[in-house]
Amino acid sequence: MALAKIKVSEDTYLVGIGVSPGIGIGEITLLDQQPVIDEVSIDADEVRGEIERFRQAVGQAREQLQKIKQTVSRQPHLQEHLYILDTHLLILDDNMLIGNTEKAIRRQLSAESALTEVLAELHEMFAAIEDEYLRERRSDVDAVGDRLLRILAGRNERPVDQIDSRSLIVAHDLSPAETMQFDRTKILGFLTDRGGRTSHTAILARSLNIPAVVGLESVTTMVAERMPVIIDGSTGVVILRPSEQTFKEYLKRKQNYEYLEHELENYRDLPGVTTDDVKIFLRANLEMASEFSLAHKHAAEGVGLFRTEFLYLGRSEPPSEDEQVEAYCEILREAGGASVTIRTLDIGGDKFVPELNLADEANPAMGLRAIRFSLREEHLFRVQLRAILRASTCGRIRILFPMISGVAEVRACRQILKEVREQLDAEGVSYDPDIKVGIMIETPAAVMIAPLLAREVDYFSIGTNDLIQYTLAVDRGNEYVAYLYDPLHPAVLRALKLVCDAGNEAGIPVCICGEMAGEPLYTMVLAGLGLHEFSMNPTCIPRVKRVLRQISRADGKALVEKLLTLATSNAVSSAIDKEMRTRLPEIFSPSVL
Ligand code: PEP
Ligand code: MG
Repeated sequence: MALAKIKVSEDTYLVGIGVSPGIGIGEITLLDQQPVIDEVSIDADEVRGEIERFRQAVGQAREQLQKIKQTVSRQPHLQEHLYILDTHLLILDDNMLIGNTEKAIRRQLSAESALTEVLAELHEMFAAIEDEYLRERRSDVDAVGDRLLRILAGRNERPVDQIDSRSLIVAHDLSPAETMQFDRTKILGFLTDRGGRTSHTAILARSLNIPAVVGLESVTTMVAERMPVIIDGSTGVVILRPSEQTFKEYLKRKQNYEYLEHELENYRDLPGVTTDDVKIFLRANLEMASEFSLAHKHAAEGVGLFRTEFLYLGRSEPPSEDEQVEAYCEILREAGGASVTIRTLDIGGDKFVPELNLADEANPAMGLRAIRFSLREEHLFRVQLRAILRASTCGRIRILFPMISGVAEVRACRQILKEVREQLDAEGVSYDPDIKVGIMIETPAAVMIAPLLAREVDYFSIGTNDLIQYTLAVDRGNEYVAYLYDPLHPAVLRALKLVCDAGNEAGIPVCICGEMAGEPLYTMVLAGLGLHEFSMNPTCIPRVKRVLRQISRADGKALVEKLLTLATSNAVSSAIDKEMRTRLPEIFSPSVL
């Protein structure tokens, strides 16, 4: 058990990353930490034995994971997460981790030192990735690395399945395998030093409904066993040794939160319509077919964005046409007749696939990424388009081209698509002849010429994550300028308005698939802008739907008109806050949040 090094006074507030909403109030159970490994060298004649020791540890780790998988697979609510354990088993076969560690041992490092060195290198590689989801895959490598280090040190697995008093877990890090073994009736929440929003541990916490705050950096050094604590997994606030008054306040918040959560279930099977009867499709953003269970759980109406780059990751060759057809058909089967939007490869720039040997660019976000990469590496693009077309007989597919900045680019894509179709016709291969083709609106250029682009495509999908970055000239992954990354900047609102108006005038649907779509506070604004579809992380759907069903597009439109007169993000933000609190105090008033 780590000793509290800092004296903690009553009501000590910490703020981390709230990754799983809900309020946990209770006492701490502290899990032990991984020891720090000092570099230890070995003699040349010990290398062979050391490699053997390391291989045995890998074998033991495999056995442990298989055993956990067996136990977990008997629990229906965890079925959808078994793939995480498979991912960890695959990491145990991965050359980058295992092969490189053995190489480092050959340089006469102990297995622990070699593994620690390789983990640090992998960390650096992952840290350079801008895309949050991809970057967070490092947590899976960490989890496997920690498991191996624990085995090498002769330490047992932490007995997370035996925690028998109701408590809040505090740990330097928690692996997804540990999180899966929690007894949900005992664990009131957890706090960790490490971790990010899209780590598998965070994803699991959300799906198990366990409040969680991660990325607290040094909480393990501040707390002691049985210390009272409150955690708010929505805001990331943690209060150590809460005072009587804070305790009462949070107890009330907890009751409100639980009431609202319970009430959310009532929305599951209701359609996403406004009070003035405007239907808005609430769809899921997915990266892998295995995430579909979440989309089902939250009644997503199809997939508004399938990010195909994940098919290309972690492999030495790009996926073959047949493999892609299989992957897309799997999504379509899961979607059961609902529409699925498949985005062609959005790689390069921030999204990093080492296997594709992308050039080193000085300014990758503005470099050879997304559609630019596909148009340059046309052979890969053609394979992907063939696969999408072939899969289109399995269900309802829409094609989406990312990061378009001009009409010529769209025409080039359509020309290639036409040629691919002709080729399939010649081969007698069937596909959906009415397949819809859309583009992501993520560059200011696309916004400015939206009326021209609208004539070329069947729909628009606004990618606000990139649109904000390019409109405000703020790198979306750079923490130094994160304070400028503002979805409510008047320039962003004006951009959204221009695109929606252009789409609506041309009579094509306008969708939104950036993170903004999943924020209930913006639901009324987005509905007022005239958007037809919101696509988001499926876990956001119930909250967005609850708001959508209580507001009208007409009121949303009036709100948008008002917001467009305001000069600063702060003014826009206060106006939205005020409007939403007045309209839906039970959801947006601070005493509830
Ligand atoms: C976006 O840019 O808003 C988007 C949805 O695409 P990605 O986050 O994959 O770049
Ligand atoms: Mg994007």
